[in-house]
Amino acid sequence: MGCSDDEHIVMLPMMAHGHLIPFLGFAKQIQQRTGFTITIANTPLNINYLQSTTATTNSSKIHLAELPFCSTHHGLPPNTENTENLSLDRIVDLLHASKSLKTPFYNLLLDITQKQGKPPLCIITDTFFGWAVDVAKSAGTVNVTFSTGGAYGTLAYMSLWLTLPHRNRNPDCDEFYLPGFPDRCRFHITQLHRFLRNADGTDSWSRFMQPQISESLESYGMLCNTVEEVESQALEWLRNFVKIPVWSIGPLLPPALLNNSSSNDYKQHSSKVPGISAEKCLEWLDLQDADSVLYVSFGSQNTISASQMMGLAIGLEESKVPFIWVIRPPIGFDLKGGFRSEWLPEGYEERIAITKQGLLVKNWAPQLDILSHKSTGAFLSHCGWNSVMESLSQGVPIIGWPMAAEQGYNSKMLVEEMGVAVELTRGVQTSVEGKDVKRVVELVLDKRGKGREMKENAIKIAKQIKASVMEKGGGGGGEGTGSSFKSLNDFV
Ligand code: UDP
Repeated sequence: MGCSDDEHIVMLPMMAHGHLIPFLGFAKQIQQRTGFTITIANTPLNINYLQSTTATTNSSKIHLAELPFCSTHHGLPPNTENTENLSLDRIVDLLHASKSLKTPFYNLLLDITQKQGKPPLCIITDTFFGWAVDVAKSAGTVNVTFSTGGAYGTLAYMSLWLTLPHRNRNPDCDEFYLPGFPDRCRFHITQLHRFLRNADGTDSWSRFMQPQISESLESYGMLCNTVEEVESQALEWLRNFVKIPVWSIGPLLPPALLNNSSSNDYKQHSSKVPGISAEKCLEWLDLQDADSVLYVSFGSQNTISASQMMGLAIGLEESKVPFIWVIRPPIGFDLKGGFRSEWLPEGYEERIAITKQGLLVKNWAPQLDILSHKSTGAFLSHCGWNSVMESLSQGVPIIGWPMAAEQGYNSKMLVEEMGVAVELTRGVQTSVEGKDVKRVVELVLDKRGKGREMKENAIKIAKQIKASVMEKGGGGGGEGTGSSFKSLNDFV
């Protein structure tokens, strides 16, 4: 590979769990493959989080480095160092504050350079940190930008921020063409988060996103958490748009979830799951028929409105399908606070406990255990990229309910390009009727017609994902090295 194993790579993820975890997964892959030393830098509380997570490595060649950061110095509440601890409207302030990491990050690179007598081989930084390109140059190395999302979502996100404004773009039509995509992929204004819908280049979000994205495209190359065969077309569009090399190195999922043996081999450490034990979920799932259960979850930090929660509850009950629902207080209430039965229809919890129709899991469930269980037939999801990859890697079709970030574009792709999803609704301001929930749930779980088609497509993608990470016998056709395995070698 032309590099010796005394090389050093330094990583800087964005301050959000959905970014820290894929960076850590990627660090482990590079480390195992090459023997390089990897340092992951972040603010103190995020480093604490990485240390405490089940995924934290025992390897002495993956180091965690704290960069000094004090949220109150930036007008943020105390101890708010990642997006999970902030309301949606304050996230942009954290993003602006993240630029203060520039000097400590540069100092870290100098320190490493002094200790090892040469600069790091490269730095791998989040696409949100375009400023790192300059830091890399000053430190005598190169920056590689890492998008933890998929190719389609990343392209949409970048193109949308770089071609503002979108509001009132064409008052007679809510659909619009987006540079980088073919004409047939029209976007709809409701697929845009309100920050993007209202952005005009002068607001706080635009003032952060536009320069960071533009500067990140000056990087040596881009890493994308996706699989060549699964997003071949979107990768082609992305490559044409960014005009720098793009390596697809995903999915960054635990290897046990991707090996082809039994889908039930994967077990999350239940002690680390705060909502319910993995054993309890698995016991309940064991009692259900194959491909019959609907899993409902909106990721690590989202919830829905109180009226949507009622509609969803009614629809699930009326559909009579078995379900596991990760449930949190609705919008406007403390997400980490207790759950009140008044947020559900009267007697709901008791009824579904008696009929054994569903399992309500408060706040957090062992998602990988659930998705990899043979009884799980569909996933009602906010379409966060990790959830999408986890679901597709297990051949589980999706009911999309995108909320923020690039979720609307992920959902669009799942429906239009992959044929593995239907969308129930978008965002938290819509009205969700029980009958709509019942209709889509029945459609996706139907063993005939459209439901069957989506399942078949999802299974085909699961095979491509699993093949992509194999050292031998991958490559979709069953021969040779898997594309993501090869892509990582090419990158290194
Ligand atoms: N997750 C989980 N249990 C839950 C909710 C989420 O294990 O109850 C995990 C899920 O498996 C995924 C991550 O949290 O790995 C959520 O990431 P995603 O990109 O889907 O959404 P985000 O939380 O970033 O919006």
